[in-house]
Amino acid sequence: MIIITRPDITDAQLDHLRERIEAAGLHTHLSRGEHRTIVGCIGDEARLEELPLRSIPGVESILPILKPYKLASREFVVNRTVVRVGEHASIGGHDLTIIAGPCSVENRAMLMETAVAVRSSGATILRGGAFKPRSSPYSFQGLGREALELLAAVRAETRLPVVTEVLDTRDVDLVAEHADMLQVGARNMQNYALLAELGRVQRPILLKRGLSATISELLMAAEYIMANGNHQIVLCERGIRTFERATRNTLDVSAIPVLKRESHLPVIVDPSHAGGDAKLVAPLAYAAIAAGADGLIVEVHPNPEDALSDGDQSLDFKAFASMMSRIPAFAIAAERSFQAPSWREALVGAGIA
Ligand code: PEP
Ligand code: MN
Repeated sequence: MIIITRPDITDAQLDHLRERIEAAGLHTHLSRGEHRTIVGCIGDEARLEELPLRSIPGVESILPILKPYKLASREFVVNRTVVRVGEHASIGGHDLTIIAGPCSVENRAMLMETAVAVRSSGATILRGGAFKPRSSPYSFQGLGREALELLAAVRAETRLPVVTEVLDTRDVDLVAEHADMLQVGARNMQNYALLAELGRVQRPILLKRGLSATISELLMAAEYIMANGNHQIVLCERGIRTFERATRNTLDVSAIPVLKRESHLPVIVDPSHAGGDAKLVAPLAYAAIAAGADGLIVEVHPNPEDALSDGDQSLDFKAFASMMSRIPAFAIAAERSFQAPSWREALVGAGIA
């Protein structure tokens, strides 16, 4: 349940309220807005039956949360969450955020070249797989630790924060040391040991929807990470498996407004894995923005034909620049903005970008 407090509640009254709830064995979570503070209660609510909550000073009203997800639910916090990535980037504000880069980190030159190209088109976060969850054990599995070092080196040169996937609980600390954001791939969305471990790291998480996961299951995966202490989560719709074979997956556009209605967490879309075809990336990206997505994650490669993974769905630099040039119009139509962030101009001024 959540307790809505009166606008004039004092800090001492708030402390008292939380103490009473915690003494009954529940956890409390505080969310402060400009005008209101909400106290979320998690635990066995039956234990609060004896407590005359409405008579505690500062309490205005009490609302039950009937959904299985609590910390991830829209009611639980006053303001939408904005997730910061690295020093300069963020996801979930008024501006759209574009993450771009290769499916896999293949070598230093291609990563650097891609980072510079996507940055000049307006991307503010670099993606690149180090550990790859390939459907075949005979396919390229990623460069692992070497790729993490390349990502960190390219970040140092380009100032782009980096996101990369972590597949295994044993690699969480290693990946967190090198990356600014950790990705949970679609195949691992219900790996609860991994989710719990990610609750303990001080890095934002990019949580991709499982291939056949419902929206509620995606939110429960986010809840796992949050219940273990990490609230910095970005949800990602990347297409689901349906009977349709014309596309690699089916982009569930309706998941975007539903997730935004159900949760305060930012929602981004991966049009690359959804369509599985470079020609579908731009139209799916525009649809995602029109439907209210907070950003995109897009696969870009200097020469898709030679890519070691996901070449068919990767954009070359020209196609990426062309897609990016049309994004501001869709952003405006969706009452959002997309502009070169001021920090990029500062870098350009300093001769870095
Ligand atoms: C990826 O981002 O390269 C990837 C493997 O994504 P997903 O987990 O959505 O398939
Ligand atoms: Mn990929």
